[in-house]
Amino acid sequence: MPIADYIPTIGLEIHVHLKTKSKMFCGCALSYGEAPNSRTCPTCLGLPGALPVLNEEAIRMTILTGQLLGATTPEVCKWDRKNYFYADMPKNYQISQYDQPLVVGGAIPMYDQYFPKPLRDGAGEDGVVGRIPLTRIHLEEDAGKSTHFGASSGLDFNRAGTPLMEVVTEPAIRTADEAAAVLASLRQILVFAGVSDADMERGQMRCDVNVSVRKSAGDPLGAKVELKNLNSVAAVRRAIVFEIERQCGELDCGIPQRQETRRWDDDRGESSDMRGKEDAHDYRDFPDPDLLPVRTGAWVAEVRGRLPELPHARRARLVRDHGLTPYDAGVLTAEPALAAYYEEAAAGAAKPKAVANWIINELLGRLNEQQTPLASNPVTSGALRELVGLVEAGAISGAQAKEVFAEMFATGAAPAAVVRERGFTQVSDDGALEGFVQQVLAAHPDLVERIRAGEAKVVNVLVGQVMKASGGRANPKRVSELLARALA
Ligand code: ADP
Ligand code: MG
Ligand code: ZN
Repeated sequence: MPIADYIPTIGLEIHVHLKTKSKMFCGCALSYGEAPNSRTCPTCLGLPGALPVLNEEAIRMTILTGQLLGATTPEVCKWDRKNYFYADMPKNYQISQYDQPLVVGGAIPMYDQYFPKPLRDGAGEDGVVGRIPLTRIHLEEDAGKSTHFGASSGLDFNRAGTPLMEVVTEPAIRTADEAAAVLASLRQILVFAGVSDADMERGQMRCDVNVSVRKSAGDPLGAKVELKNLNSVAAVRRAIVFEIERQCGELDCGIPQRQETRRWDDDRGESSDMRGKEDAHDYRDFPDPDLLPVRTGAWVAEVRGRLPELPHARRARLVRDHGLTPYDAGVLTAEPALAAYYEEAAAGAAKPKAVANWIINELLGRLNEQQTPLASNPVTSGALRELVGLVEAGAISGAQAKEVFAEMFATGAAPAAVVRERGFTQVSDDGALEGFVQQVLAAHPDLVERIRAGEAKVVNVLVGQVMKASGGRANPKRVSELLARALA
C-alpha cells in the first residue's frame, strides 16, 4: 500500500540542560568549554560516600516550565535510581524520577513560523497551529561525556550532574514537520522563560525520537522504534522521514514490527540495528535512599507569581497593541534579547511600526551582513528611538536618516550629534522646494506629458528627481504635494 496511506505516530523525549548556576546535586559550577574534568567534585564523580544535595533552582525552573505549558505539579515528587553501567556514569546509576515526576500533563504549542509555508492546517489568531499533549516532565542528571580516540577513550565529567529536564510527549505527533515545530517552539519557550539556552549544537537540548506506523486509524498503535540522542532539528526531521519509509517498506513485505532501539546515522541518512537489544534493559528503578521526596506546594505558589509571557502571547500583543504585522512581530520575538530591544526602542513612540521597520530593515540587515551578534550591537535602543523620532518629526529626511544610521552603526555616535556634524536638516520650506520642483519639471517635459496622459504613477519618478536635486534633504511628503499642485 502507498506510504501516504499509512498513519505514522511519533512521540518525543526531549532532554534539556537547565541554566542553573551549579549542578543538580553538588555545588560544581555549570559552564561550557572548560578544560576536561575541571568542574568536578566527589559527588558528581560518584565517589563512595559522597552525598547529593538538591538544587532548588532546577526544581523551580522545571515547575515553571510545566506551568508555562499548562501542566500540573503533584504535591509530592520523589527521586529514583535508574541503574545501569556506563563508563560516563561512575555511580552506576542515574538519579531520575520514575513514577512521581515534578510535572504531569500540559501541552507544547506549535508556532506557525516553524512550519513550511503554506500551512497545511492554518494557524489560530495567536500563531499557534496546534498543541501536542505532554505525558510528563521530570528532572534528572546528565552523564559525563566520552570521546573515543582510536584504541582508547577519554572521559570528561564536567557535564556529569548537569540538571537535565526531560520533556515527554504523548504519541500524538503525526509528521516530521510537526516534530520539528514542536522542538523549535519548545526551544523558543525555554529560552524566553530563561530556563535554558537550549542550544542543540552545544548539546543543551537533545531528543529521542519514537516512531511507529499503522494501516488504519482503527488499529492499535504499531510497535515503536526509538532513535536516541538526535542533536539538531534537521536530523530529527530526516530521521522521522527515513524511519516512516523504512517501516512502511517492511510492513509491505510482510515483516512484523518489533519494538527496538535503532541508531540514527545522520551523515549516511539511515537508521541501523543496534543488535545489542539495549531496550531489553531493566533499569531496576528504586527510590534513592539519599534523597527525601519533595513537597512542591511552596515552589508552585512562588512560580505562579512570576510567570513570564510566552513568545506567542508577546507576538500577539505586539500585533494588537503596536499595530505590527504578524510577520514583523514574529521576527522581533524570535529571541528574547531582540524583543526586549524592540520594546525599549518603541517605548513611548508615536509609531511603533516605524521603529519595527528600522530594526528589521536596517539594523538586522547590517548586523547580519557584518555577522555581529545583537549583544554587540553598537546602536542603543535609546539612540534608535531618537533617530526614528527625528524622522517622524520631519527634522531630517528618510535618506538623511539612513546616512545617520550608518554613522551610528559604525561609530556608536548619538543621532543628534551626527545630524549636527553633517549639517543635516530637512527642507520643508516651500520657497526652496518650489525651486527644485520647477527645475525638475523643466528638465523632464516627457514625464510631464505622460502624467497628463493619465500615467499617474510616473509622478513618483519626479518626486525622486526632486529628492535628488535637493541632495536628499527635501521633505518627500511636501514635494508630492507641490508637484500635484504644479501639475494640476
Ligand atoms: P518507554 O517506557 O519505552 O520509554 P514510553 O511509553 O514511556 O516508552 O514512551 C516513550 C516515548 O515513546 C513517548 O514520547 C511516547 O509518546 C512514545 N511512544 C509510545 N508508544 C509509541 C508508539 N506506539 N509509537 C510512537 N511513539 C510512541
Ligand atoms: Mg525512552
Ligand atoms: Zn560536583
